This record gives sequence, structure tokens and C-alpha cells, in this order.
Amino acid sequence: MRTWKWMFTAALLASLSAAAQQAAGSQPSAPTPAPDATQTAQSSQQAAPAAADQQTQPSQPASAQASQPAPAAQAVPAPPAAAPAPTTMDQVVTLFIEREHGLIKMLSNRTPVVETYLQNLQNDAQLGPVPSEDHYFLGRMDMGETVDRKDYLKEEEKGMQDRLLGGLHKLYKVQYQPLGFSWMVYADRTDFDREHYDFHYQRREFLGDIRCLVFDVTPKPKSGRGRFLGRVWVEDQGFNIVRLNGTYYPAPRNSYFFHMDSWRLNLIPGYWVPSYIYSEEGDFSAGVKNKMAFKAQTRIWGYDLKKGGKDDELTNIRVDSVTDESTAAQDASPLQAERAWQQQAEDNVVERLTNAGLLAPEGDVDHILQTVVNNLEVTNNIDLPRPVRTRVLLTAPLETFSVGNTIVISRGLVDVLPDEASLAAVLSHELAHIVLGHNLGSKFAFNDRMLFSDEGTYQNLGFKHIPEEEQAADKKAVDLLKNSPYAQKLDNVGLFLKALQVRAGALNALLTTHLGNPLAEGGTVNRLTALAQQGPALDNTKLDQIAALPLGGRVKINPWDDKAEMVKTAPVAITSARDKMPFEVTPFFPRLARYGAGAATTPAPATAAANSGSGN
Ligand SMILES: [Zn+2]
Repeated sequence: MRTWKWMFTAALLASLSAAAQQAAGSQPSAPTPAPDATQTAQSSQQAAPAAADQQTQPSQPASAQASQPAPAAQAVPAPPAAAPAPTTMDQVVTLFIEREHGLIKMLSNRTPVVETYLQNLQNDAQLGPVPSEDHYFLGRMDMGETVDRKDYLKEEEKGMQDRLLGGLHKLYKVQYQPLGFSWMVYADRTDFDREHYDFHYQRREFLGDIRCLVFDVTPKPKSGRGRFLGRVWVEDQGFNIVRLNGTYYPAPRNSYFFHMDSWRLNLIPGYWVPSYIYSEEGDFSAGVKNKMAFKAQTRIWGYDLKKGGKDDELTNIRVDSVTDESTAAQDASPLQAERAWQQQAEDNVVERLTNAGLLAPEGDVDHILQTVVNNLEVTNNIDLPRPVRTRVLLTAPLETFSVGNTIVISRGLVDVLPDEASLAAVLSHELAHIVLGHNLGSKFAFNDRMLFSDEGTYQNLGFKHIPEEEQAADKKAVDLLKNSPYAQKLDNVGLFLKALQVRAGALNALLTTHLGNPLAEGGTVNRLTALAQQGPALDNTKLDQIAALPLGGRVKINPWDDKAEMVKTAPVAITSARDKMPFEVTPFFPRLARYGAGAATTPAPATAAANSGSGN
């Protein structure tokens, strides 16, 4: 897999036994009214640091924030020149083929982060298809090498091998190829043209705010194997493809390509950037022989990350105008020196994780997280010498950890937590570590320890506590919660832990942490066990009992600049137990919007933000 460098792969080639015959007609099922995973509203400005009203921290914000906007501004490519308005559908086809090639060229120097999270499915009489096993892939995709089209064309074998990566192959065995899930970032990297495809205009259709022209795309006879077969949606101003849906055809013998639904967002002027890909296979209707069933979400972000992190000479020589405003210049006392040292380690780690594309820059979601942490601190009279900060880890696996006074919580974990009390519970565990002085990671104050490749992040950083500290933190966390505004809502925390326990055996990949301690090990939840019996029994038939949410319902990431935002979704009534989908993967249905439109970002009403002020 020469174009991919894997930071981590859980079961790179996961295999499971399955019949090789494919259900020829299996199409991605119609989207359910699941929470929208994403939206396109842009937060065009850096959110005010949440810690602004607290004590300023001299060393951290200056360097971290100063270096963020500058490269972003330089790195946004110039929008393409406007083409004359087409008068026929044939001209539209010419335009979107051109624009597709323009996109491939524009992204050719990018190495975004690509994450695929996959759940194998089995049928449950009450709940329908439920996860039976899961797999997680995370890597950086070099979008440059794949556009070297001429080489592929000459080397027929290699070209075929690469196309195979877009699917599943091997008789009686299913192999998931991580690269395959991001295959549909483009319809056809090498031959998206009139020689290889027929284009048939179907109709106009709105996707979100965007009026689209819909075309069916079919490979011409004898144009080769593994060609795109499906539909594209083309926006009607710049004529960029904004969505692709379909598969590849024809499949080589004993192999097949899975179905994908691929969405792009207008994150920079003039370009729609591949952002989300949903894949699904499986048919649980009577008499179907094909046992293979899975659903998978692929997310792409970090387009604006510098390649290998080595292009930042310009930002490094910037001199920040920070003046020493302390009244008297004094040497640090031993305790002050210890704290400064820990601060330095914390800043190093936060900056390194951000540069590796694993941590969101400080933003909207942190305001909500910090409000919850403040609620815990104030009601427990916690007065720390340095303020506690929060940051969002951009990945799906459920985890939290803390380094110095920064609490980090993963996007996936924020997504599945059903309410603010449950969020408070997982944050309280990390706050307890901080209060108890379980400080890890001071070794990272040495800058040589920050010198590793992005792909080496998980090998070089780690914040796992010893079991004694874990138990002490859990005990302290329960004390903190019982004194807090969340004391009356701990039943919900108990329900969440019960729901997690039910799925813990099947969701090993989702529960495998990469930097912090796991919430569950060997299929058993081990976090906050004192609260696990709290609250009513888990009951799927109770439609108002929401113990855990599907993935993707709360936090959305801007794939260009990695900013995290709360998703705004209207509440959707749950009509059966199958609508609950705790911890599950669902299709994507982002509300498409043009760059700059709807830039006003307010805290999401349908989320923890709505409750965070009430404190009761
Ligand atoms: Zn811990």
C-alpha cells in the first residue's frame, strides 16, 4: 500500500468467512432519518478561546494560535476561473469533467487524514441488523500519487491491482482493504472522460441549499473493469460534483466492489472537497444467501495539514510580541518550576497532536466541554493554580485522557453520550486525575520527544494511568458528580454504562483507545463502575429511554481546517427500538451549502449546549 502510511490499523486485512456470491442487486439502503452526521456551515473565524475569561497562560496560546491562521490563509488555493454559462446538458458534462480533473490536480499535494470505522452486522429479531464485530482504520492518504494516471494506464496489472483495492476480494473470504473505503473520493481517478463513460441527465434536485443537476454515469462497453457505475450530483453554479453514489463495474472474478455514497463540502472557494463516504452491504431479507453485511463511515479531514509537518519555517521564525508583565522578575520557586515544566509538556503535546491532525483547534465544542468542567469545579470548590482546558480528539474510538491540565475527549465519545450528565461523568474522571495530581507526560517537556513523524504519534505519545490511579480517579469522580448539578441525573450515566456493556463485546475496535485508558477491556466496562448499577434497567421497548446515541450525531469536523463544531439537528421522533441505534454507524446526509453561506455559527440548540446553562 505504497500511497498510504498507517498510523494505526486494527486488523489491516480483517477477514471473516462469507459466501463469495454477491447479492447482485444489493443497493445502499435508503437513508434512515438518522441524525445528520455533518453540515456544511462554515465557522469562518477562529472561535474565541474558551479560557479567555480565565487567567491567561503566557506560553500556550501565543505560539499555538499564532501559527494556525497564517498557513491556512496561504494554503487555500485560488478558485478556478469562472467558465461561461453552459446552454446545453452536453456542455454541463464537459464542465463537470473539467472541474473533476481540476479538483484532482488541486488536491494532488495534499495528505489528509482518512478514518474508516466499520461495523459488521448480524440480524437481531428485535433490533434488526446490529453490530457483531468492528474494525478501525486510520491513515494519511497521499492524494498526489494517485493522479499519476499515465503510469497506471501503461501498467495494466498494477492498474487492476489498484482498482481491486476499491472492493472486496478472495473467494470465501472477505478482506477489507482500508484504501477501498476512500476509493470513491473521485469517480475515476484515471479515466473520467467521454471515451470511457456515458453521461445521462436525469433531473434537478436540491441537496440542502444546493440546486443540483443529476446525471447517471455508466461505463462504455469494453472500457475496462472497475469503472464507476452510478450517479453524480453536480451543483449548478461552478458545476462541481458534490455527491457520488454507486459502485464499480464490472468486478473481476471472485471479487466485488462495495457500494458507496460519497459527499463533498464547499470548504474553500471554488472547490468541493471529498469529506464523507458511507459504505454498506448486506441484505437481511428472507432467503438471501450472502451472509456478508457491514456498514462503514469514512471521514476525511486535515486537508490543510502540512505535508510531514516540515513546511513551517515561516511560522517558526515569527517573533510573537509577548511582553513580560509580571511585576517583579523573580526566579521560579521549586513548585512554580514544577508547574511551569508540566505546562511546557502539556503545550508540547497539544501542539504536536494538533499538527498531526488528531486534535481539533480550540473552538465551539470546547466552550460546552469547559462549561461542564466549570460546573464540576465550582460546585466542588476546586481551585487549581492553572485553569483546566478541554480539547476534542478528532477520531471515533471512545476515549478520554488528560495531559497536564488539558482534558481531551474523542469526537466519537461526545457523539454517543446521551446527555450532559453523561458528558460530565466522563469528564469528571479526567478532572479527578488532575485534582489528584496524577500528572502524566511531563517527559514531553523535552522537545526531542516531540520529534517523530505524524504516523508515529500513537507509538510516541501515551497517557495511560496505572490501575491504582484509575480506581482513585473513578472514586474521586463519583464524589465530584455527587456534589455537582448532575447529582440528580446519574441514572442516565448508569444507563449509558449499561448500554456500553451490552455492546462492549462487539465493539472492540471502537473501545480500543490509542492514547488514554480504555472505557472497557475484554468486553467489560471498567470506567465508573460505581455508577453502573444506577438507574433503571435497560429496556429497548421503552422508546423514551435513550441510553446512548449513534455515532456522528453531535460533533462535525471541518475537513479543511479540522475545526470541531456541534451539529445542529432537529429532534426526530423515535418510532421503534430499531431507531435507537446506540453506538452505531449510520449513513451521512450533510446539509450542503456554498462556501461562506450560513457562516453564522451559534451553539447548537439540540445538544448538550442547550442544557449546559440550566445546571439543574
Ligand atoms: Zn483515567
